[in-house]
Amino acid sequence: MGQLLRLLIILFGLWLVIHYVRRALKARPRDTEPQTRGSPRMLPCARCGVHVPESQALRSGDKIYCCPEHLKEDAP
Ligand SMILES: [Zn+2]
Repeated sequence: MGQLLRLLIILFGLWLVIHYVRRALKARPRDTEPQTRGSPRMLPCARCGVHVPESQALRSGDKIYCCPEHLKEDAP
C-alpha cells in the first residue's frame, strides 16, 4: 500500500512539472512577439525628407513624396 502512495506522489509531481513547463512555454512567445507587426513601413519624402507610411506615400517613378505639393514641386 505504501508503494502505491509513493507512485501517486511521483505521478502528481510529474504532472506538476509538466503543467509548469507547458505554461512557461506558452507564455514565452507572447512576450517576444515582434512589436513591428502591424505597423506600416515608413518611407522618406524625396523633397523634404519627412517619413510617411507606405500606404500614404505618393509615388512618382522610383521617388516617394509625402504630399501632392512636394510631388509637383519636385517634378521636372
Ligand atoms: Zn515632403
